[in-house]
Amino acid sequence: MNNLEKIRARIPANADALLVTEIVNVGWLTGFSGSAGKAIVTRSDARFITDSRYTLQANEQVSGMPVFSFQSPVLDSDFVLQNLNELGVKSLALDPTTITYDAWHEYEQKWTGIQLLPAKDAFAGLRMIKSADEIEKLEAACNLADACFDHVLRLIQPGVAELDISIEIEFFFKRQGAGIAFAPIVVSGERSARPHGVPSEKKLEIGDFVTMDFGAILNGYNSDITRTVVVGEASDRHRAHYAAVLESQMAVLDQMKPGMTGAQVDAIARDILGKHQLAEYFGHGLGHGLGRLVHDTGRLSPTSTDTIEVGQVWTIEPGAYVPGFGGVRIEDDVVVEENGVRRLTHSTKELLVLPNV
Ligand code: ZN
Ligand code: ZN
Repeated sequence: MNNLEKIRARIPANADALLVTEIVNVGWLTGFSGSAGKAIVTRSDARFITDSRYTLQANEQVSGMPVFSFQSPVLDSDFVLQNLNELGVKSLALDPTTITYDAWHEYEQKWTGIQLLPAKDAFAGLRMIKSADEIEKLEAACNLADACFDHVLRLIQPGVAELDISIEIEFFFKRQGAGIAFAPIVVSGERSARPHGVPSEKKLEIGDFVTMDFGAILNGYNSDITRTVVVGEASDRHRAHYAAVLESQMAVLDQMKPGMTGAQVDAIARDILGKHQLAEYFGHGLGHGLGRLVHDTGRLSPTSTDTIEVGQVWTIEPGAYVPGFGGVRIEDDVVVEENGVRRLTHSTKELLVLPNV
């Protein structure tokens, strides 16, 4: 089934059509990468609606349905109504989890003669299973993240600020024609005990852990990688701490398989960190779904009931953060295959002590 067929199968029995308004879902459905567009999907037809800012781009990108565009002074809601009428839609399903109360109210007022129905689960889980084409795009975003890691290693030396590294990561992705998946996290020394710390003026010092968490967005798909390195020289404590987190990550990559639950996968890492008396320093979940959003549908955590299936893409990112000492996180992106998972990010996980003199 292609994405249009998957959506069509989710049109509620009492509705003639589904209106897709949420831009991430619109992009997933049509291939459109702009920021304004909607799709009307009926049982036998479909239309892509956008405005004149995006007509040319939509004609190039949208597949599976014709593009209809409007321009000022026509209003979006009037133009959608015209198209609904042309398609003979009398009852229309909308996803209430992605539409604002205001928009719903406006449509209800304006679209007299069309019954609006909430289709709460219309998109639930749909984006989780990736097509071959989506996996290829994710792989390209992951390759760029690996190249970026390689590029910024030269900045790991005493005196360089966390902010210098984070801006270099952004510059690298943008110069490659990609975007940043999220504002890069670069934290060093004691600050590395902040899992989502914001880069600061702090300069790298000998004996610092440096944790860098970043990703690219390329052709609508995100990558998300974390590596921790040490500046100058690593103590036994650095090495033992790093080895424990790495052991937990490698065990997950080794054992994760279709059919497991998100909680079972999370427990693999948590048990190993527990053996090293580090479980209490692992406060977040093991990973999340990855796709058109960085934190896309799906969680690997102690409470997750998600089922691991072939074609899903996940991050695997155990960490251990000790206040006053520092933290380590190691994150890779993986695609689930029949017998296990395949890594999409390939940067080395050997503990790097830099600069390499
Ligand atoms: Zn990350
Ligand atoms: Zn992540």
